[in-house]
Amino acid sequence: MITCDTKRMEDKIVTFSKFGDAGHGGITRYSLSPEAHQARDEYVKRMKAIGANIETDDMANMYATLEGSEKGLKRIVMGSHVDSVKNGGNYDGVLGVLTAMEVLETIEAEKIPHRHPITAMIWTNEEGSLYPPAMMSSGVICNQYLPPEIAKKFIKENMLASKSVLDKTSTFGEALDKSLYKGDQKNRLNPDDYMAMFELHIEQGPILEDAKKEIGVVTCVLGMFNYRIRFYGQSDHAGTTPMHKRQDALFAAAKALCYLHEEIDKLGRPELVYTTGEILCHPNVHTVIPDLVDFSIDVRHEDPAVRAKVLSIVKSLDGKTIERCKGEVEMAWTRDTVYFDKELVGFVQESADELGLSNQTINSGAGHDAQFASYMLPTTMIFVPSKDGHSHCEPEFTTVEQCTAGASVMLNAVLKTDKK
Ligand SMILES: [Zn+2]
Repeated sequence: MITCDTKRMEDKIVTFSKFGDAGHGGITRYSLSPEAHQARDEYVKRMKAIGANIETDDMANMYATLEGSEKGLKRIVMGSHVDSVKNGGNYDGVLGVLTAMEVLETIEAEKIPHRHPITAMIWTNEEGSLYPPAMMSSGVICNQYLPPEIAKKFIKENMLASKSVLDKTSTFGEALDKSLYKGDQKNRLNPDDYMAMFELHIEQGPILEDAKKEIGVVTCVLGMFNYRIRFYGQSDHAGTTPMHKRQDALFAAAKALCYLHEEIDKLGRPELVYTTGEILCHPNVHTVIPDLVDFSIDVRHEDPAVRAKVLSIVKSLDGKTIERCKGEVEMAWTRDTVYFDKELVGFVQESADELGLSNQTINSGAGHDAQFASYMLPTTMIFVPSKDGHSHCEPEFTTVEQCTAGASVMLNAVLKTDKK
């Protein structure tokens, strides 16, 4: 079996960790920022050094391609993103780019024959940390293949108008126009020129580490729903209104949230995850009884039947009165489980087995560009362990051996795809 090079991998991780170094072990590298451009420059330098051809598309997604031995065949692409969240780590996203580069570098160094062109790709603005939303450019590039209710959230004109969360005025479109890496729409990832996509990513959870597995063979991105729950009360003075007469919307919402946890936990599904991460309280004044509380619930599970059971619990709050406050439930959005291409998943599994790497199948609870790409062309993902399950924070860590093992799996899976 052919494997990637640990030293070369380590050099890339160390080098790219400097771009946006926040000074305490992690990075802040917003998409299209000067730091992100440093990372792109380094990618160009290294990819040109192995003879790869560099292209960019109209969303500044970048493609470095090694030609194959047969003319006219479709490309195989690997890639992820180099942007991070604020005070993020050195692995989320960028590792998928570095391993893609490592695969190309190994192919070049070892003179590995391949029929198809093979591409290492950078997706622009996956995190959406500065210019929301997340997965912006895969949402644009794959737009016509996405389910309509998702597609309409990623209309290119609206994305270009997305305002910076920092200054609230400058837009993504302006940043794109300033970028030297804004290219041509004809270079976009597309199903006529590309046959398959791989994305390697850190797991962002503790499952592989707890199971002492080196590789996660990803089979799907979990289906989910996101609802808003509201309770309506009556604002009154905090000092003069007797407790038994109050319509306290926050107290009602708190009881509703406890009810949700108790009822959902009764389903006895340890793999089910659900979160209330956002709460709006009106008027949010310490001397006033709240008259409106609006909170989110995000629920994720592979099986639609399980999601349906949770949804019926959530919906049971609609029209329900708690503490003299009326409840209301409204859908924000939903998505079905996205299954990755079975043949590519099989290639990842076989490669991990043949390399003697411990592995297990796993699903992704987080969204990734590969999820949108999978609506357009055969796609799959490879996970490597995250120390203590940490991600989107500075302690993010995966050993260089684990990173290289992931690259080796991707290399062999790509070569199996090439032989098809
Ligand atoms: Zn990521």
